[in-house]
Order: sequence, then C-alpha cells, then structure tokens
Amino acid sequence: MDNILPAYNDPLFSILVIIILVLIVAISSFVMGSIKEKKKRKTLKSFLKGFNTKEHVLNIEEMPFDSTLIKPLSLLAEAFSNQGEYQKSINLNIYLIEHIDTFFDKEKILEQLGRTYLKAGFLKRSESIFLQILNKHPRNIQTLYNLGIVYELLHEYDKALNTLIPLNILEEDTKILEAHIKLNRLLNNRKISPNEKVQKLEALLENKHYAYRRIIKALFSLNLEVAWNNIQLDKIDSILDILWFLPSSNLNLDIISSSETLLAIYLAKGYIKPNEVTLKSNIFAIDTIIAVKQTGSDNIDLLFNYGCGKCKQHFPISFTRCPKCYAIDAIQIKETLAKKKSQTNYSLL
Ligand SMILES: [Zn+2]
Repeated sequence: MDNILPAYNDPLFSILVIIILVLIVAISSFVMGSIKEKKKRKTLKSFLKGFNTKEHVLNIEEMPFDSTLIKPLSLLAEAFSNQGEYQKSINLNIYLIEHIDTFFDKEKILEQLGRTYLKAGFLKRSESIFLQILNKHPRNIQTLYNLGIVYELLHEYDKALNTLIPLNILEEDTKILEAHIKLNRLLNNRKISPNEKVQKLEALLENKHYAYRRIIKALFSLNLEVAWNNIQLDKIDSILDILWFLPSSNLNLDIISSSETLLAIYLAKGYIKPNEVTLKSNIFAIDTIIAVKQTGSDNIDLLFNYGCGKCKQHFPISFTRCPKCYAIDAIQIKETLAKKKSQTNYSLL
C-alpha cells in the first residue's frame, strides 16, 4: 500500500482525496439531475402529445418559436377561450408549452390550458393538467380550486373534498365551498331514502354555510309539507321563482294565509282570489301585478333571469355554480314584468 500510495500518511494527501470525493459526488448529482430534468420534460411532452388533436385549426405547429411570442400568444389563447373558441386556444397553449423549457415559465399557460379543457367539457384532460401542475407546485391555490371544480362536475365529491385539505393548510376559508360540495354529495346520493334525505336537509337549514335556496328547492321536490314549514319570509327574495312556478296543487294554504307576502305572491299569480285588495308583498314586481289586477287587467306575468354576483353575467336558467366563472353561492334572482303568454305555468323542480 505504501508503495502504491507513498504519501498515504501525508495529511495533504487526505485533503486531496476528500476534495476528489466531493467533486465526484457533485458531478454525479449534476449529471443525475439533468438526466432527471430531461426525463421530466420528455414525460410532459409525451403527456401533452396525448392531447394534441389532429385538427390543425391554426397552423402554428411549424411557426419558429421566439420567447417574445409567449405574452401575445398567451393573451390570444385566453381571448379565444373567452370567446368559446376552445380548440384554437388549446392549440396555442400546447404550442407554447412545447417550446418553453422551465416549469416556472409555463405554469400559467398550463393553468390556462386546464381551464380551457374545463370550460370545453374535457374534464378528464383538465384533471390531468391540474394534477401535473400540482405535482410540481402543490401550493398552487387556484389550481387546487379548479381541480375541485373538475371533481365536482365529475360527481367525485370525496375527491373534491380532498382538495380542501391543502387549501385549509394554505389558510383558505373553504367553509362555504365545503358545504356546497357536501350538499351536492347528499342531493346526488341514491343510497339513502328520500325520508332520510329530507331529515338531513332540514338539519342543514340550521347551518349558515349551506345555501337556503338549494335546500328549499330540494325539499319542495321531496316533501312539500317540510318545505312549506321551513319557508323563511326574510329569504323569499332568493326563492321567489321557485314559489312562483309551483303548481297550484303544491300550495299549502294554511301557511300561505298566515303571511301577507305569500298571499300577495299567489294573488299576483292568480291562484288566490282577491278578498283583500290591500295586500302588499314589498316585492315591487308582485305589488305591481296586484295593482294592475285591481284595474281589471290580468295580462302581466313574471319573467326570471339569473345573475352572477361575481362576474355579473346573466343567464336564462338557474345555476348552483356560475356557468361563466364557476362562483358558488353567487346567484341573484331577477324578476321582470312581462306580458302574459298563453301557457307559462311550469315547475322549476
Ligand atoms: Zn360568474
């Protein structure tokens, strides 16, 4: 040994050996790291290839890439997505993702691609994209919310609830969202009896995080008596359309006659004969119809449309999540007066 390594006992030699060892470790970890990164990039590329459709809507595949294109193309993709041109938006996003090297630079574009797939109804693709993002950036709050929406739309409520765990760790207030998902899970649960469902729904009325409108609507379709017993007069604005479109056979005259507001609504509707002409509901449209009825005319009806308190869009049908921005608990019921058509009686239930 002494012949092979003559300076073995020399402390300088020991230091040299340590330096060589450190260098070997550093070089090998650098090499391993770059191989791993290359592998990751390859995985993401092959992952995206699975989504690449053969429809060359934009002919951008052969376009030479330049980093200055990222911003304008990303904005263009967003504009396409907002206009409902989902395929064009998807193609642009995939083009950008394939040409950008680092995850940091393409995270926002991946998010946009996931949202576009969500809007276009490709829920499984959207789920894959969001999971890819979270795999690299588990603290991406908006992506956690978006993944929850995907699972909710897939009716995978337990998975949707699981997305709330990291959100809570990240100090997000998810109480209303949790109530929303749990209510969906209850309403779509076919394993429990209607009676059990009614009991559970009635109990949830005590919890302020649960949407009153959704519970009453479900109760009217499950048990009329329980629904009527839980009418809260201070929340009538949020269920006026449901009450208005109830068939006359579903009315509870005992409860209606105990409230001037309810009497006024069904007087305006034409289900109750006007014994008392001074009825007032303090709902402008209802009181206007009653005033017009007093003149002998009976040709005014109510039309409803539904606004989103967050994105301010309006829709002709009711929703639990805004179809545009996916906000929950944001529905605003707007009633307008309209000329009565021959047949407008239908139930929302
Ligand atoms: Zn909205």
